[in-house]
This record gives sequence, structure tokens and C-alpha cells, in this order.
Amino acid sequence: MHRKRPKLVAIALGLCLILCAVPALADGFPNNPEARSLVQQGSEHLKNKELTKAREVLEKALQIEPSSGLIHFRLGLTYSKLGNNEAALREYLASLELQPHIAVTAYNIGNCYQGLGDLDKAREWFEKYVREEPGDQLVPMAQQRIEALKRVAGKFKAANKEGPDYFDTLIADKGPEKWSQEKMPLKVFIDTGRNMKDFPKEWPAIMYESLQSWVQATENRISIVAVPNADQADIYCDWTTDARQLKANATGAESGHTDVEWAMSRKDPTRTRNLIRARVRILIIDSKGRPIDADSLKKTCLHELGHALGIDGHSGNPRDIMFFGESTSCLPALSKRDKATIQKLYSDQTPVKQQPR
Ligand SMILES: [Zn+2]
Repeated sequence: MHRKRPKLVAIALGLCLILCAVPALADGFPNNPEARSLVQQGSEHLKNKELTKAREVLEKALQIEPSSGLIHFRLGLTYSKLGNNEAALREYLASLELQPHIAVTAYNIGNCYQGLGDLDKAREWFEKYVREEPGDQLVPMAQQRIEALKRVAGKFKAANKEGPDYFDTLIADKGPEKWSQEKMPLKVFIDTGRNMKDFPKEWPAIMYESLQSWVQATENRISIVAVPNADQADIYCDWTTDARQLKANATGAESGHTDVEWAMSRKDPTRTRNLIRARVRILIIDSKGRPIDADSLKKTCLHELGHALGIDGHSGNPRDIMFFGESTSCLPALSKRDKATIQKLYSDQTPVKQQPR
């Protein structure tokens, strides 16, 4: 008989919310009246989240006055929100050249590099920001991000970024972590949010769909069943509006957190950590206290549920849902590599017929 040694392990890193900071001063404001008016229109569009319109007017403004650091900055911000990190980076670098005293530019450049998966460069730029703008508003956040980047330094080798999956790097140090065949179907409890103010009633369904995406990726080697009672749950999911409740190694910049409990048989040569319970908590407001949108919610649910199903680590490719830190390059869906990774993790298990919800 195998002796089991229960242990608690916390998933250290949730998603980092990307803050795109906007300069407070009107540095580098264009001289040309038409360009100025276009910049103002661009700001309005940005405020209203009309990103394509913002891009159009700001690109036009830049044609009129290409030497305005502020236009480059605002365009960088727009591209970044549109998920085009290459273009955002180009604009921020141009802005920095023309208008070096927009303090947060270096921070935003760090963001772009992180979104592009170049974590060393991201760290360099966050460090530059802290060094050169020690009193600026985002310095505490930058310091937390530097620490988080240090923790993952060296983990993301080239193979991890571009290979068909990132399975090997997950199990390299610690061996696999997974739910065993006997645990299927996994009992899932999702809090309805009934006791929360203004909670969108469709969000539990987004959580369930996210879990279904992972189940499908394993071709039903994982199966799930919803249970009405939290006490019965293998996977317990709820919501919070308090970032401090995410605890973790808290960077204070995470949008979700997962705790897992597992046991390992001492005699198991594969050193598999068999999951016993997982608890997923999702932050439903952004860093400014506004409700997050459905796409951001889906990304966070997919990411945290990946941890709940045994992905104990992160991908180095910003197009994967399990990328370290939030990526604007990633869609609210599993990438091919995410799917291939979970498939490998559960490849030795038999597909189970899906239970009705
Ligand atoms: Zn994570």
C-alpha cells in the first residue's frame, strides 16, 4: 500500500495586469493646431475604448507632426491595447527619443517586451524605470514585476517558447502534477456570485466553458461534473473584488489565483503529484476598480484552470494562455501549444464519457 504524504503547494504567479500608464503632463504636445485637435480626439477615443478610431486619428496626427513625442506615446498606448506589441514598442522608443521626460515610457516599454515574451529585456526596462524615476507612481508595481521576472529567469529556454508544447519544462524540476483516473469525473463547484453586487450572471458559465475547453483538449481524458454543493467539490471556483484576497506571493498585480493540494506516493518512480483539491479565485475588477470585460475574464479563467488541472508553471510564449504574465498577444482561447501540453500530461489516461452538466 502506498503511503501518501499530503502537501500544499501554492501556484506562485497569477496573471499580471498590464497597466499602460499615461503621462500626466502634456509633454511633447504638438504645435500644429490640426495635429493637436487630432490628439485630443484620439484621447477621447481611447477613453471610450474606441481603439481603431484612436489609431486612425493618431496615425493622421503623426503624419502632420512626426516630431511630437506625445503622439508617438499615445499611439504606442493604442497599439498596445490593440495587442500589437511590436508597433507599440516602436512608438514608445520613438517617444523616448523625442520626449525623454515622459516618466512611464520605460515602464511601458518593459510591458511591450514582456508581451513579446522577451523577459530579460522586460526586466531591464522595468529596472531602468525604477532607477531613473524613483518617485514615480508605478515604481512599486515595477519592483514587484522585477521580482516576479527574477523568479522565472532562465526557465524559458528557446524550446519552451517555440516548440510544439511546453510540457518538458513543466515536469523538469518536480515531475508531473495531475488528477488521477480514479478522480474522474472531477466535481466542480462554481460560485454563482449571487451575494456579490452587480455580478454579471453569465460569468459562471464562462468559467465552466473555460474548463470544458481544457477537457476537450485532453479528448475527455479529464471529465467534469458540476456539483451544487461546495463541500463536494474537487475544483472550487469563486470570485473576488479584493486583490489582497489573491494572496499568493502577491505582486498585488494578479487577476487570479489557484491553490492546489496534492499527494505523492513515495514509491512512485515518476514522482507524480496526484491532485486532491484545487481552489480557483478570480479577481473581477481591474487595477482601477472597474469591472473587467468578458474576454479578460475568459483569459484569466483559462489560465487559472490550467493550473487547477496540473499545469504547475508557465509558458514562455506570449501567445499561450499559460504565458507568464498577461499578454495582449494572446486570445481568450487555448493555443495549440496549451492543448498539446495538457494532452501530454494526461496521455496515459483513458478517455471518459462526458457527464451531462
Ligand atoms: Zn499562472
